[in-house]
Order: sequence, then structure tokens, then C-alpha cells
Amino acid sequence: MRLATPAVSLLAAMAIVLAAGAACLAADDTQASVALRPKTDARNAFYSFNREPLAPSPFARLPIGAIKPHGWLRRSLEIEADGMTGHLTEISKWCKAEGNAWLSPDGKGHSPWEELPYWLKGFGDLGYVLGNERITAEARKWIEGILASQREDGWFGPRANLTNVGGKPDVWPNMVALNALQSYYEFTGDKRVLALMTKYFRWQQSVPEADFISGSWQKIRGGDNLESIYWLYNRTGDAWLLDVAKKVHARTANWTDDVANWHGVNISQSFREPGVFFMQAKEERFLKAAYRNYDTVIGIYGQVPGGGFGADENCRQGYVDPHQGTETCTWVEFMHSFQMLTRISGDPLWADRCEEVAFNSFPCSQTPDQKGLHYLTAPNQAVLDTQNHSPGVQNRGNMFGYDPHSFRCCQHNVSHGWPYYAEEMWLATADGGLAASLYAPSEVSAKVGDGTTVRIAEATGYPVDETVTLAVSTPKAVRFPLYLRIPRWCTGAKAAVNGKETAAQAKPLAYLVIDRTWADDDKVVLTLPMPLAATVWEKNKNAVSISRGPLTFALKIGEKWSRYGGTDTWPAVEVQPTTPWNYGLEVDAKAPNASIQVAANKKKMPDAGLPFAQEAAPIELTAKARKIPEWGLDRHGLAAVLQMSPVFTEQPVETVTLIPMGWARLRISAFPTASIAAGANKWTETPAPAYTATASYCHAGDAVEAISDGLLPKNSNDHTIPRLTWWDHKGTTEWVAYKFPKPRTLSWSDVYWFDDTGKGSCRVPASWQLLYKDSDAWKPVTPAGGAAYGTAKDTFNKVAFAPVTTSELRLEVKLQPDVSGGILEWRVGPAEK
Ligand SMILES: [Zn+2]
Repeated sequence: MRLATPAVSLLAAMAIVLAAGAACLAADDTQASVALRPKTDARNAFYSFNREPLAPSPFARLPIGAIKPHGWLRRSLEIEADGMTGHLTEISKWCKAEGNAWLSPDGKGHSPWEELPYWLKGFGDLGYVLGNERITAEARKWIEGILASQREDGWFGPRANLTNVGGKPDVWPNMVALNALQSYYEFTGDKRVLALMTKYFRWQQSVPEADFISGSWQKIRGGDNLESIYWLYNRTGDAWLLDVAKKVHARTANWTDDVANWHGVNISQSFREPGVFFMQAKEERFLKAAYRNYDTVIGIYGQVPGGGFGADENCRQGYVDPHQGTETCTWVEFMHSFQMLTRISGDPLWADRCEEVAFNSFPCSQTPDQKGLHYLTAPNQAVLDTQNHSPGVQNRGNMFGYDPHSFRCCQHNVSHGWPYYAEEMWLATADGGLAASLYAPSEVSAKVGDGTTVRIAEATGYPVDETVTLAVSTPKAVRFPLYLRIPRWCTGAKAAVNGKETAAQAKPLAYLVIDRTWADDDKVVLTLPMPLAATVWEKNKNAVSISRGPLTFALKIGEKWSRYGGTDTWPAVEVQPTTPWNYGLEVDAKAPNASIQVAANKKKMPDAGLPFAQEAAPIELTAKARKIPEWGLDRHGLAAVLQMSPVFTEQPVETVTLIPMGWARLRISAFPTASIAAGANKWTETPAPAYTATASYCHAGDAVEAISDGLLPKNSNDHTIPRLTWWDHKGTTEWVAYKFPKPRTLSWSDVYWFDDTGKGSCRVPASWQLLYKDSDAWKPVTPAGGAAYGTAKDTFNKVAFAPVTTSELRLEVKLQPDVSGGILEWRVGPAEK
């Protein structure tokens, strides 16, 4: 049900004017038109657009500081400054200044990898956009350290990274550090940044091809390096930089032909790489590859509301339900990619996608006070506890609790989410104008037209209010085009200038362009109608989600917050539901208004307190729903996989409250539909696990239930599926057991041993045997025909035995001396009839 990517050729669409408004020259000189893309055939000398021979860019960023966030966005940034990101040096060992490798000129010391630059990348921008002197000064300290770290040959930053990938350089942490330097330059104009980057890319040029971007994350994420090269080229014009850019593209994983890697964060930041290289290649296939990568991933794993895709580490075949999570790093990198592609392509679709994530999914990756974050945020997330949900989600251990001390990458990388959003709301256009690209209350100062600096104050309650008011301040009359993005969900958008409606008929996924000689105090009122809409997720069992404008809605679930760890100042908290969540909606997807109404709309985002706390939700809907009693948590503690809608239920109709997803930390946002029709689908209760597994011991990073999870290994050294290990017990006698709810008659069993030779110290056991419980005694089974207990690697070792009827079967191992052991899968079978 998603809108397909419009097949608009960028080069051909440089200035497709759909409805030129018949050049409606009224008494004033206002010309209103609709454009699919901004013009790129004009020159804007005031800002950093692409230099030739790069493809002309429709948009350029404004210097940091030119856009001042107001209202809820400013408040959110202030909360970030008071929260984890603003105080991470007090929390994270990777941000400890003393002895930090990023601060020492010889690059020795602790924490040389991505964490510090991840944090600094957003932390500095947070200070710049807020005008927060404490943060700006702290960021400056780290920037100075990085600037001072450059060697004569051009390398900068920790020396450890020079040999980090099999003895070869790892340029990944520096890619992140370059982002921090670029922002610092955009804020201060400090030319030392240009000098450092020039020298550094000279070093990149000198590295032998085979040693450059040779493997690891850098190979997947080379697009980040590429963007920094073009950024520098647009400021210095050094032609050799484009040779380095070609080298980086050639050495980066091939995202042009297909999705090159299925790790969530790799996708969210690297799917765009061919789109970035398009600027140099100027072949449309590269830009189209970025669209295609997005469509491929979303088409399989993103058939859910909220703008993301299920990759609770990696995308895994078959794991497409809305209970699959998305890593916090993925949210912020996705938003950053969308912002970049908006500027490269001029396509308003990317800005839409950025708002979709920013409003619906990103806020709930953190607590409302931004003092804690979790690893995974999912469209359907009925409980936020600290339990192990693997293999329902890929990683073992706590992934859902909010913790400022954990989730190492996200803890640092989350920093740039809101600051970058604030920096990209307004963009300079090639034809000397301004574009409102992402909507939020703000004020922008920029040079337009003949070079006059104008100020535009944007007052809006968007994303709940349908109007955006823009007030122009200018020292003299000046002509320039003002581009207003029309979102994809919006038909009937209109704009009035000084009370007079413009003639242009705005269309979704276009820009309404008002070109006129602007005078001081001119006012534009943009109206963006936001009707209720329903989306049917056919690939997810016909589940339905409800949206209004850019917001998608979730069931309002009672929240019980409790502390489970952390410190008094920086607690770790979990959230349990206090009200039922297992509802199906009674809704006609073609006419959602029939059963769903807007109950309360403050028409204003909260700009005080905690804007994204549940109680601050600016809009509520009421909907008709019925409980689906069979829908509960599955055996991994996740809201069970959806079943085909409509779902039959005879439970009474209730009126439930829906709030926007961005305010619902416990949430159901992809709903089954409920029906009492005889033909509706019966929800079959999720089958209970075949066995309840126990063990003499299990390593904290592993899971006892992994032995019965049904995930079959590729070999004994398979690290892609969960396992049980007795690590670090060595040479001991250990066991695992299956308890049955009622006695079962069994006659065979097979086991797949874990053995990580080459990586660790788990080996197949010295010997093993099967015991069954007879009353209170454990007795060995009798292998059939004297069958042996096998210890072969890379296969199931099967033993048939004389049938036993028992309530519990135990597998006992004797580990080899000085090593441990483990099990990937253990199966038992009934007596053959
Ligand atoms: Zn992360």
C-alpha cells in the first residue's frame, strides 16, 4: 500500500512545472506554481552548492545557526542537552577525556574507535543549534584534540585505527569524526578544518588500493567518506579530490547493483551510497539504485507503520512481523540519509520519509526525558522489559529496557537525531530562494535573491495542526522563490499570501512555489489538510494502521515505569503494561471515519515539559475495537505474530483511545481487524513450546531455550543462531533437561553440538548419555542395538533407545579437560508406532 517511488528522472525533471498557475500576475507580482523538483539551472552564489563537474544540486544546507528551532523542537533539544547526550562524558567510559585516544596528539590511549566521534557528531551540533555555550565549549575541546592529532602524512585521530583491519587502516571512525568537523566548520568557518580534510584525503589518495577500505564496517559504509569528499570539493574546488572519491566508491561494497548487506544500520546509512556517487557519475542508474535499495528493504521488512524496517540486528528471512525491532542507530542514520537524498535529488519524498521516522518512531527510542534509550523500537511492542527475547529478536539479553549506560553504539550515535533535523528544516535553493523542507516551529535567516538577508518565522502546530504560518522580515523589497513541500498524504493543500489565496493547485509530493517581490511583514499561510487514513498491510496479514497527516496512531496502553538498574541520577527503567493491548479494530479501511474520530486535538505540539511523554500527546482518536483473547505474548515475550485479518472475535465492542506512535512507548500500531462475521479468521493460539528446557548452567550471554528454538545450525561453529553453552565451566559434568507437561513416551533423541574451534574454547564433549526420570530417580536409557552416543561436529548425533515413558529427559555431558561445550539444538522423538 506504500506509494511507489515516482519514476521521475532527476536530470530531466530539473524544473518540471506542472501547473504554472498561468503566471498569475495580479496587482502584485506573485507567481505561484507547482514543481516536482526545484530548479537547478540557476546559480546561487551565497551557499555551498555542487561545483562543476558535479551534478547541479537543487538544495544546499544553510550555515549552522541560520535556523533557530522553536517550540517543541527547541524544547526537545534542550531536553537532549540536559539528558544523556548532553552529559555523556559523565556516563560513558568511551567519552572520558582523560587518556582518550581522540585527545592525545600521538593517538595513544583508550576508546580509539567509533563511540567518541558518534557522540561528538551530534553533541557539537546540539550546542550549535541551541546556542548552548557549555556544550559548544566542551565540543570545542574534542575538536581541537582532533585537529591537533594530524600527522605529517595526513592521517589524523587514533593511531590504533591505522592497523585495525587485519593490519590495514580502518577509516570508519574517521568518517564519523569528519562529520563532526564539517559541522564545526559550518558553524564557525574555521579554515583549519578544510586544511585537515585536504591533507587527510591526500593520505587516502596515497594508500595502495589493496590496503584502502579493505574490509569491515568501512567497506559497507564508504558512502559516508564519499559525502565528506564532495563537501570539501564544493568548498575548495581541488579537482584531485574527485579522483579520491572514485577510489572510495570503487572500494566500497557494491550498493549499486543490490542491497550489499542486511545489518540494519548498514542499510540505513549505506543504501544511499549510489545516490551520493550519482553527483559525480551523473548517471541516473546510481540515483535510482538508492530508491531501489530503499524499496527492496521496505518491500520485505518494512511492511509496518513508523517508517522503519525490522532488523533487530540483521534483517532475517521470515522475521517481518511488526514486533520485530529497529535499532536506535538505524533511526538516526535513516533520517540523516533521507535529509541527504532530499538535497541531492530535490525529491520531497525523502523529506516525507524523514518526518515519518522523526515523528513516529524516533521519539520512543528514548525516555521522554532523554535520559535513557533502548536498542530496539518496534511498531508493536507490548512490553519494555529487560528479559531475553531471543530468538524472537536476534540478539540475546536486554534490548527493550531504557538504559543510559548500555547499547554502546546507539548510546553515542543517538546524539544527531534532533540536531540534524533542526539543521535541515530550511534549505537554500539553486534559484536564490528558500525551501521549507521539514516542518517545525522555527526561524530562518538567509541570503536570497540579490543577496538581501531575510528572516522567516515559521509558526505551526505541525504535525497536528494543518496550518503553517510564515512571516517574512526583510530590510527591503526582494524577489525570491519560496518553496513549500507538499507531503505525499496531502491533497488540497493551499497557500495564501497576505490573505489572498494563490491560484496554483498543489499536488502531493511536489513543491508549491511562491515567487514574488517580498516586502517586510508579508505573511504566508499554508494549509495542509490532514484527513484520517487507513493503511492495509497486505504482507502482514492485512493488519491495519491509522494515520492522520504525518502521524500514525497506536493504542494508548497504561504504562507502569520502574527502575531496574543504573544510578539515581541516570536510572535504567522498564515499562510494563497496566491495561490490555490485544485489540482488533472494527474499521473499514476505505472509510476509517465511520468508526474512528478525532477526540481531542490541541492543534499545538507541547513546547514545555516533556513534549513526547505519553500524557503530552497532542491529539487523541477514539476507535471501536474488540479484544482478541487468544492474542498474547509469545514464548519469547513478544506480542505474538499477527494472524490473518479480519479476525473472528465475539468480545464486546469497546471504545479505545489511540495516540500518535511517537508518544506511545508501549504500542500496538499495526492492528488486526476484528469481526463477528462467520467467515472471519479464527485466531489459533500460539502453540506452547514443545519442551521446557532447564540446564545445570548457562553462560549469561547465551540462552537455555536456544536448544529448543527450532533454528537449525549450518555447522557446529554457527554463530548466527542462539545457543546454550556451559562456558566458562571446563572439564565438568553438566546437563540440560526437557520437562513435559504430562509424561511422554520417547524412543529417540538427537543433538547438534556447538564447537567454536578457531574462535573460542567450546568443544564437543568427551562423552554423554541420556537419562530419564522414573519416579524420583534418574535412570539411563538403553540405546537400541548398543547404539553409540556420537560426538561428531556439523551434524545431529542421533541415538535410538528402548521406549521410555517419562515426565523429564536429561542429557548429561562430560566436558573434555580444560575446555567447555555447548548445544545448538536438541530434539527428542516419540516412540514409533
Ligand atoms: Zn546502535
